[in-house]
Amino acid sequence: MRDVCIVGGGVAGLAASIFTARAGLDTLVVDGGESILARNASLENYPGFPDGIDARRYLQLTREQAKNAGATFELGHVEGVTAIDETVLERGFVLETDGGDPLEARRVIAASWSDSDYLVPLDVGRLQRGNKHFVSVDEGGRTAVDGVYAAGRIADEPHQAIIAAGHGAKVGFAVIHDADVNYYQDWVVPEGYFTGRGREVPPACEEIDDEERRRRDERARETMVEALSEPLEERPTMHPSVERDRE
Ligand SMILES: Cc1cc2nc3c(=O)[nH]c(=O)nc-3n(C[C@H](O)[C@H](O)[C@H](O)COP(=O)(O)OP(=O)(O)OC[C@H]3O[C@@H](n4cnc5c(N)ncnc54)[C@H](O)[C@@H]3O)c2cc1C
Repeated sequence: MRDVCIVGGGVAGLAASIFTARAGLDTLVVDGGESILARNASLENYPGFPDGIDARRYLQLTREQAKNAGATFELGHVEGVTAIDETVLERGFVLETDGGDPLEARRVIAASWSDSDYLVPLDVGRLQRGNKHFVSVDEGGRTAVDGVYAAGRIADEPHQAIIAAGHGAKVGFAVIHDADVNYYQDWVVPEGYFTGRGREVPPACEEIDDEERRRRDERARETMVEALSEPLEERPTMHPSVERDRE
C-alpha cells in the first residue's frame, strides 16, 4: 500500500511527486504516455530559463528531480480506480492498469490531462466541456471523494506549464497535510537560520553549513552542464490530426 499514487507523470504530477516524496510519503507515479508539453517547440515562459528550454529536456530534468526526491515510477495506463472499502475511504484505493498488477494507495492524485475516465467508478464530480472532462476540486485539489485529488489542467487550471507545476505542488501540499505528516515548509536554509535564534529546525526544513552548500551547488552545476551539453535528438510531437494528414 503506497501512501500516494499519482496518475500522470507530466508537469503537474511530477511537481506533486517532488513535494510528497520529499515529505517522506511513499510516492508512486504511474504514467501511460507522454505529457502534452512534448508537443511544444520551445518552452519560453517557464521562470528560470532566460532564453527558454527544450520542453522534452525540461520534462527529463523534472523526472530526474522526482526520482532524486524518492518518487518511484511505473509505466502503465490507469483504467479504473475503486475504493477498497466504500464505507471507510481511509483504507485506500485500488488502481487497475493495462497489463500490470493492480496498485494500492491510500491517496490518489489524478494529474492525467486529458483522461479521467478511470475515475468514473468513484463519482468524483466530473464536468464536461466540449469533448473534454475536467474534475471539480477545492482550493487544495481535493475532489468530492476523500483521498482523491486532481492537479493541473485536468483540474481546470489554465493551460500553462508553470501553472500546472504550481498547482501540482499545491495539491502535493494538501496531500501532505491530510496525511498528517509533521511538516512546516520544504525549505533548505543556511546553518543558524533557525538554531541561531534558539529555535529548533522545523519539520521538513534543513539547515546546511557552507561546505555542504558549496557541495550541493557543485553537484547542481555538474548536473545542468551535463544535461545541457548536447542538443536533444527528440523532436516535438505533432498534433495527431496533422500527422494523419501528412500520412
Ligand atoms: C502544442 C502545445 C504547446 C504548448 N506550449 C506551452 C508553452 O510554450 N508554455 C506553457 O506554459 N505551456 C505550454 N503548453 C501547455 C502545457 O503543456 C500544459 O498546460 C501542461 O503540460 C499541463 O500539465 P498537466 O500535468 O496537467 O498535463 P500533462 O503535462 O499533459 O501530463 C499528463 C500526463 O498524464 C498521463 N496520463 C493521461 N492519462 C493517463 C492514464 N489514464 N494513466 C496514466 N497516465 C495517464 C499522460 O501520459 C501525461 O504524461 C503547450 C501545450 C501544447 C498542446
